[in-house]
Amino acid sequence: MSDRFLRIYKKFYVDEVKSHLLTYGALSGTCANCKKMDLKLDVLRCPSCSNEFKYIAFVNIRDHLPKMQRISQERPQVIFVDYEDFKRLEGEEKAKDILR
Ligand SMILES: [Zn+2]
Repeated sequence: MSDRFLRIYKKFYVDEVKSHLLTYGALSGTCANCKKMDLKLDVLRCPSCSNEFKYIAFVNIRDHLPKMQRISQERPQVIFVDYEDFKRLEGEEKAKDILR
């Protein structure tokens, strides 16, 4: 049997994920906490806000499956978060804050 990625559902505090999340687009990453851009995928901490990256979300996950395999071997503690899920929840949280 080969080990493959299977999406699961787990409860998280969105704020906690956001403060330790690297989102990765086509060529570079962005810190979800302070929005620092042009980060490399392998960076462990944000050079700007110095938060540790515990979560990674790929904008186009299908383009990055080989990278996910490599990272999961090198940093087994990293949790991969679905980008669409994160964006949707982040938007809902923001809307809640505005209504408060
Ligand atoms: Zn940052």
